[in-house]
Amino acid sequence: MISGDSAHHDVVVAGAGPAGLACALRLRRGGRDVLVVERARFPRPKICGGGLTGRVAEALRVLGLARRVPAIGAVCGEVRFGRFRRTVALRRPVEVVRRDEFDADLLAQARAAGIEVHEGEALTGFEVAGGSVAVQTDAGAYRARVLVGADGAGSLVRRRVVDARAAPVRLLQVEVPAPGLPTDTIVFDFTPMRAGLRGYAWFFPMPGRQFNVGLLHHPGADHESLDLDALLRRTLTEHGVVALQPPRAWPVWSYDSTQRAAIPHVLLAGDALGVNPLSGEGISPALWQGILAADAALDALQRRDFGFGGYALAVRRATVGRELNVDRRLAGMLYGAGGVTRWLPLLLFDDEMLELYAARVAGVTVLADEKPKLLKALVRHRFMLSRWRRRLDQET
Ligand SMILES: Cc1cc2nc3c(=O)[nH]c(=O)nc-3n(C[C@H](O)[C@H](O)[C@H](O)COP(=O)(O)OP(=O)(O)OC[C@H]3O[C@@H](n4cnc5c(N)ncnc54)[C@H](O)[C@@H]3O)c2cc1C
Repeated sequence: MISGDSAHHDVVVAGAGPAGLACALRLRRGGRDVLVVERARFPRPKICGGGLTGRVAEALRVLGLARRVPAIGAVCGEVRFGRFRRTVALRRPVEVVRRDEFDADLLAQARAAGIEVHEGEALTGFEVAGGSVAVQTDAGAYRARVLVGADGAGSLVRRRVVDARAAPVRLLQVEVPAPGLPTDTIVFDFTPMRAGLRGYAWFFPMPGRQFNVGLLHHPGADHESLDLDALLRRTLTEHGVVALQPPRAWPVWSYDSTQRAAIPHVLLAGDALGVNPLSGEGISPALWQGILAADAALDALQRRDFGFGGYALAVRRATVGRELNVDRRLAGMLYGAGGVTRWLPLLLFDDEMLELYAARVAGVTVLADEKPKLLKALVRHRFMLSRWRRRLDQET
């Protein structure tokens, strides 16, 4: 604590999603006094595919948390493009949860571990001055050595930290009754790329005999007028499904390692910092970035140096940052100009590449550590592309 005043804390965390709770738990384990302020009351609705992809299980273990809510364990992944389908067995099942349940349970576990969370209290502003940060909420004021902005994609904190302007990734999601798809498989359908989507449609089986279906659309100048709502409806119709509710849309920032991630006394984590630009995956990055923000704050509190000049680099060099950077490059290739005919065939038709990416989605491989395999895939791509293109034409 900065002083004996009860309104003073070592760290105030804004947001009790995966990033904020991971950060708070790590800080508490480091012996620090932390307060979490959360705008919503849990269980709060959260637009999400609910796929616990990547290294979620490992992060939960590190934090002393468990996935206790119902989940579907998908044992296969499938890629589709038109009539083409390829299924690959996942080396570890990918669990799919309902985010409102999952997040509420993480909050319950964090509270049981001694974390103080003020639900229904929104961060409204902050000022850095005099070696600390004055935090304003709609219910009070606090002073802390560090403020962590884990307040999601619409982050108020991010607006003051990130200087660069970027277009967000657009995501659209709806829950539908089982559309005749296997209930043990997560499906990634790239067919909508033919209609100009810079992304894919997902079909994730979820608890309650429902499917979580959505579209990811990467930003780009030439397709900004794309009607994602209509495209999602068309995609559902092709699978014989009529959505009973309208889809819900949510823009998110993609992680960019060249952007600022902190200013003195203030750190970003989770969606406030950025999701995976290729897949939109954000739960695993949020948990790991929350841990990294806590480690940076613990170090700063010990050294009494709150500049956080090295935080962006620490995130970039950590496994989560290296993984996000590889996927950022892949997104640039796949969703860039001509990506559908140039790079999509590598993912669809090259078995080794598909196996490799499936292992990364299942969290058993870190793609950033597989550069030799990625380089070999590029060599195969060079020699196979014209044959693969003919196949793409035939299959679709
Ligand atoms: C349609 C869609 C599908 C997705 N599918 C997947 C998926 O299948 N798998 C995956 O890994 N990721 C997925 N994601 C991304 C994932 O949902 C996020 O990356 C993840 O929730 C990030 O966690 P977070 O803690 O940073 O943010 P959040 O979970 O958004 O938590 C932020 C919290 O901050 C609170 N908050 C906001 N403003 C304030 C404020 N001013 N003061 C206090 N509190 C505030 C919010 O109420 C919220 O509880 C998807 C995202 C979308 C939009």
